[in-house]
Amino acid sequence: MTGRDLLELCSVSRDFGSFRAVDDVSFAVRTGSRHAVIGPNGAGKSTLFGLISGTLVATTGAVLVDGQDVTQLPVHRRVGLDVTTTFQHSSLFLRETVLENVLLAALRRGRSGLGGLRPVRARRAVIDRAHALLDQVGLPARHDVPAAALSHGERRQLEVAVALATEPRLLLLDEPAAGMSPAETARLTDLIAELPGEVTVLLIEHDLDMVFELADMVTVMHLGRHLTTGSPDEIRGSAAVQTAYLGTTEASS
Ligand code: ADP
Ligand code: MG
Repeated sequence: MTGRDLLELCSVSRDFGSFRAVDDVSFAVRTGSRHAVIGPNGAGKSTLFGLISGTLVATTGAVLVDGQDVTQLPVHRRVGLDVTTTFQHSSLFLRETVLENVLLAALRRGRSGLGGLRPVRARRAVIDRAHALLDQVGLPARHDVPAAALSHGERRQLEVAVALATEPRLLLLDEPAAGMSPAETARLTDLIAELPGEVTVLLIEHDLDMVFELADMVTVMHLGRHLTTGSPDEIRGSAAVQTAYLGTTEASS
């Protein structure tokens, strides 16, 4: 499987009315890579993630996961293909406990063993795994509090645990460090770095230090377009990044 592309975007575009938010974007994400998408606000990054996760359907072009065309598939069918997103705006169940949030995600995955006639031992294994995930993301003492009681940073940690509970092959993280303190960001960076190698990560992030610490490939977007994809060394200081972030051509901010 090494070297194979888990995700391929083939000339995808997305219109909102007459406005083209994602414009003819093509790039591939290799299996097992830590691939970052960067670009200023409004570049089309979150819209692109919607096209990958299935919350949005491409106006034109194709999205392939493991060679299968998923362009028209709804979200729940893509979760069945092991594509999982954490959303930029938190989608936790705030009144449920931290542990229950992880268990609900495992249930959505459908392999959980919590349904119907499965043996008690299988349920125990799912619950044990949920506890282990919460320890892994750094929430060891918070399993039984409502998600509403968590700090902003802790909620992001829980979102990652919720995403991992679905056992994704492709994990989409949309600005996971948004609003986090430097210490929380460092902890999250370590967590992502330590994810199992078979989990492919596609990360949108504004914190370029985090991007260059984590990513083995970086895609730069600007005004809906794909500017370039390359190694962190190729991207650092590249003309494309300067164009996107410093407005050396048509960019205004
Ligand atoms: P990014 O995540 O890079 O900041 P977005 O994908 O959120 O960018 O947005 C790209 C552009 O598409 C922005 O100009 C935004 O206003 C527009 N856009 C995003 N979602 C919608 C929508 N649902 N309806 C209309 N315009 C949208
Ligand atoms: Mg966004």
